[in-house]
Amino acid sequence: MKRFRDLMVVSLVLVVGLAPAALAQSPAEIEAALKSAHARYKDLKEGANADYIPALAKVDPNIFGIVVVTTDGKVYTVGDVTSEVSIQSISKVFTMARVMEEQGPEAIASNMGVDATGQVFNSIVAVEQHKGAEMNAMVNPGAITATSMVKGATSEEIWGSIIGTYSDFDGRKLSVNQEVYKPEAETNQRNQAIAMLMYAYGHIKAEPLRATDIYTRQCSVNVNAKDLAVMAATLANGGKNPLTGKQVINTQNVPEILAVMATAGLYDDSGKWLFSTGLPAKSGVGGGILAVSPGKFGIAAIAPPLDKAGNSVKAQKAIADVSNALGGNPYAPKPR
Ligand code: GLN
Repeated sequence: MKRFRDLMVVSLVLVVGLAPAALAQSPAEIEAALKSAHARYKDLKEGANADYIPALAKVDPNIFGIVVVTTDGKVYTVGDVTSEVSIQSISKVFTMARVMEEQGPEAIASNMGVDATGQVFNSIVAVEQHKGAEMNAMVNPGAITATSMVKGATSEEIWGSIIGTYSDFDGRKLSVNQEVYKPEAETNQRNQAIAMLMYAYGHIKAEPLRATDIYTRQCSVNVNAKDLAVMAATLANGGKNPLTGKQVINTQNVPEILAVMATAGLYDDSGKWLFSTGLPAKSGVGGGILAVSPGKFGIAAIAPPLDKAGNSVKAQKAIADVSNALGGNPYAPKPR
């Protein structure tokens, strides 16, 4: 009996020991990839902070951190990974995920569509062109509509569901940066107009201004580079947070979330981005970008200065280099 038990223990150790790592590279190689990308771009001065509110303009432009979190729960960091910026448009991914969880991916596809608009993220022309039908949840009309679809009887209940979802993706309780939220809420008339149009065309069913306010709040959530990388890794790991072990969303919904990110995650430069990395990703004007290598890792970088399309200059370059060094591109099969 004892021998049998010993045998069981040995075989269990073997099975666990043999589970393939998420990445073929050794920890030292992964760290080297991060360090070299950080060193290559840390002094790059291209781009400028978003400046539509003072709270964004005054963020330290030198913040620069990169984090990889593998689907087997290993965390690799370089640079400044504790400074927080507002999540901004990256939030759109996780609100869409919440809606899919409640109503299925089809609810998103049929209500605001999943195609790229070919217009800037807050385009009113795009809404007019297709009466709000051919949007996607990564641009403001689709994103505010997604926020309006989250279930809850009151503002606070809806907000609780949204921030709870983000926190589960992250494994840490996230909160709103009031210094960003207040001025954004006072100056979001364009987003209010977009919401009103989406309401007029029947995509937002009720309370468009409430949806805009909650959307503004979700954009103002503070995150650091590690937060974003864990959120990306939760998607890379089929909706299960690799650090907390919590199944945050249904694994079946992940492909649709990644598809929308791939189509429209980096605004007008989404095609260029996909061409160079193959990674579903999402950027925000706070300077963060997260990207997902399905089954392998989540990666994120924060660096506030943005290019003309509104994407962090350094974060794009750093994520592309690290992912390419780690074989992150899901469109790169090896011949037999
Ligand atoms: N709060 C911003 C807006 O909706 C977010 C923009 C962004 O990150 N692209 O206008």
